[in-house]
Amino acid sequence: MMAQYVEIKTANPGSLLFYRMGDFYELFFEDAEIASRALGIVLTKRGKHLGEDIPMCGVPVERAEEYLNKLIACGHRVSVCEQTENPAEARKRGPKSVVRRDVIRLVTPGTLTEDALLDARRENVLAAVARMRGSEGEDGYLYALAFADISTGSFRVAETDAGRLAADLARIEPAELLVADAVYEEPHLRPLWRALPAVTPLPKESFDGASAERRLAGFFGVATVEAFGSFTRAELAASAAIVAYIERTQLGARPPLNRPQREGAADAMVIDPATRANLEILRTTTGERTGSLCAAVDRTVTAAGARLLARRLAEPLTDPVRIAARLDAVEHLADEAALAGALRERLAGAPDLARALSRVALGRSGPRDLSAIGRGLAEGGAIAALIAASPAPAELASAARAASGVDPALALMLGAALADELPLNRRDGGFVRAGYSEELDATRAMRDESRRVVAALERRYAEETGVRSLKIRHNAVLGYFVEVSQQNAERLREAPFDAVFVHRQTMAGAMRFTSTELAELEAKIASAGERALALEQAIFDELAAAVLENAETIRACAEALAVIDVAAGLARLAVDEGHVRPEVDDGRDFAIEGGRHPVVEQALRREHGPSGGPFVANDCELSPPENAKSGRIWLVTGPNMAGKSTFLRQNALIAILAQAGAFVPARAARIGVVDRLFSRVGAADDLARGRSTFMVEMVETAAILNQATERSLVILDEIGRGTATFDGLSIAWASLEHLHEVNRCRGLFATHFHELTALSQRLTRLVNATVKVKEWEGEVIFLHEVVPGAADRSYGIQVAKLAGLPPAVVARAKAVLSELEDADRAAPAQRILDDLPLFAAINRAPVAEAAPAPKADPAAQVVKAALAGLDPDEMTPREALEALYRLKAAA
Ligand code: ADP
Repeated sequence: MMAQYVEIKTANPGSLLFYRMGDFYELFFEDAEIASRALGIVLTKRGKHLGEDIPMCGVPVERAEEYLNKLIACGHRVSVCEQTENPAEARKRGPKSVVRRDVIRLVTPGTLTEDALLDARRENVLAAVARMRGSEGEDGYLYALAFADISTGSFRVAETDAGRLAADLARIEPAELLVADAVYEEPHLRPLWRALPAVTPLPKESFDGASAERRLAGFFGVATVEAFGSFTRAELAASAAIVAYIERTQLGARPPLNRPQREGAADAMVIDPATRANLEILRTTTGERTGSLCAAVDRTVTAAGARLLARRLAEPLTDPVRIAARLDAVEHLADEAALAGALRERLAGAPDLARALSRVALGRSGPRDLSAIGRGLAEGGAIAALIAASPAPAELASAARAASGVDPALALMLGAALADELPLNRRDGGFVRAGYSEELDATRAMRDESRRVVAALERRYAEETGVRSLKIRHNAVLGYFVEVSQQNAERLREAPFDAVFVHRQTMAGAMRFTSTELAELEAKIASAGERALALEQAIFDELAAAVLENAETIRACAEALAVIDVAAGLARLAVDEGHVRPEVDDGRDFAIEGGRHPVVEQALRREHGPSGGPFVANDCELSPPENAKSGRIWLVTGPNMAGKSTFLRQNALIAILAQAGAFVPARAARIGVVDRLFSRVGAADDLARGRSTFMVEMVETAAILNQATERSLVILDEIGRGTATFDGLSIAWASLEHLHEVNRCRGLFATHFHELTALSQRLTRLVNATVKVKEWEGEVIFLHEVVPGAADRSYGIQVAKLAGLPPAVVARAKAVLSELEDADRAAPAQRILDDLPLFAAINRAPVAEAAPAPKADPAAQVVKAALAGLDPDEMTPREALEALYRLKAAA
């Protein structure tokens, strides 16, 4: 056996081998050590190899999925090796023959299909990146990404380049990525791989361009791949790598994969990984779904709907026509509340068609999967009828067509064939409805009848022998047998019974006998049971084949139901949360009236109850001013905690929602399509990442300044905070000039460098805005209202006081501040404006009104003088308190 193990293990390198032995999967040698650590199970030993103990551990077959799940989550791959014959068959080949075994499947993070191993509301994507020499690429190469979810059958491919690869991977979020060895080893690409949960390097033959077409054509059973549309060589290579890997891991079973659909590079808004993380689109910076944009806007009722919504939020569109089509669907259902409600009720009962279909195709399905498909198709028909009852916009009408596009005979057949209560595994039998197959019904009757005959026989034997306690029992060794107690056994050995009963076994206190009648019955029962089971298996295969014949229309139906669920969910959101339809066009406008932050707003409402959320709505107008082609940049100042970050992010989220085809949290919104969205937070917020945070901040800022276009939206929050004040100010200053003059994008720039507000005198499209606060009895009150103008001061000390800084420290800080403020802070900025030519040395704007100088306050002067005379380090607490009373009186 060990020789067989080693042979199989050698043939399947790079994975842990689950070696089937009876009711367990056993692991040996290093595999056992790895698995016992990862799973927390006992490591034992079995036999010796080269004189050393062989480490071993095992997992019970019925709990295998749970353990697989853990191992996959740790990034391992697992080869599942099954017995392909039973021990009796092995014995026929010779007394010492080992049962034949074979690896039937390679389980990897990107090729899962079992519900127990998958998150229902998330896609599970297998991606491949291929690289070809090309002149255009940033690093001299062209890249292509192919990505598929074999649990649902989606399959797409897109061109990319070294500069965009990170953004594309962040958008796709592969559970597993395939790359050629050489690409994997590239030092400049290494950081990309590190950011992914699992990367599988493959020999370069897997990405061979020459054989790619043949491999794809073979997989999809077509003569040539030209039928799919035109692909670049890199795209073909990436797609072929996916197909080859699926064939390898599924060992020939073929999931119902779509033909690869090609995406244009400009189809989706480009959002790089830092922006995604920062805006918490699908999950928060700590990795949870709760608190993300997706969680806040998800009102879908099906898993497929949730997956589609996440995908749409991850890749907002850039084509106003397609966006409008999605918005039409949402609007229709927002207006037709009754229809939306009815649809959602139906959808809530619809099973996950796509994943059930995949399991059927891979031969991993059970009766419940078939039944799920039957019920799903029936729901699809009902849902389509609801939509078709009144005129619907194109997106819904075509979804309705697809939802009812599967041959209705299939659903009827599945409904008729499958029982109401279904076992998990097809091997268990008992899933075919009585009345579906005459032959099966007859066989089952015979099996059940025989059982009754056994009972009758038991009664007859008891009467005839006069042994009332006589029982007919069954076990695996003897089959059916008669059992009586030791005392009564003598009865059965007396004439005339000894001719009937043959003694088989003596137990403590009992004796067992068989009879010819029993043996005959036994054969009949066994064969009827076996035959019934065999008939059921055949029916299962017929049903599965019928399902697979309709695979394409079933997939289309599943997708359509997801589209309807997303539209109905977003309509519900719009109604519940007061979101409006945005206008999205090809222009450069960005005009938000009364915008809100969807996540913060809902969180505040949860805290303060439903009676009017205290969230303060704010406008944002970045549309190009008259006579200008490029949009505005707002420079937002205001104290900490005023709401700057919230305001910045809410506008980015509104752009994402609008282009994803959702209504937006605002009174009105007009948005010219955003091609790329950038969002950065100053390094001080990023300490958890453990790299030189200032360096990270600068690398990211550089990426924006290099990539943002006139159509982009850029959000910079406190850039330059991670270094010394003057360094930071200078960097922020120069970046702002660059964005305004060179990138010419629309933007929001929050800063605590008040000096920057002077720039609006020079930069025509730069507008100062501030988040209003009120000062009341020495405390700051945050109004969260964004208004034109610059903040007069930063209120840092008041905020610190709110945070509970010791009063002595607050008093001392105030004193230091007023000393510092005595030096004219506006001067350096003014000098720069006057003396230093502008970044791009163009466009001298009419000089706007200078910011008013802070007024001197006489009371403050007195307090300041008094404070100057105090030395807190030399004072006792009592003296300090007295000084404080004096100061308070003076103020
Ligand atoms: P800043 O970036 O200016 O330091 P934040 O944007 O982090 O401030 O906001 C601080 C807190 O103020 C948020 O956690 C939120 O609870 C609250 N807040 C922000 N904006 C608003 C608003 N428009 N309406 C109500 N509360 C708000």
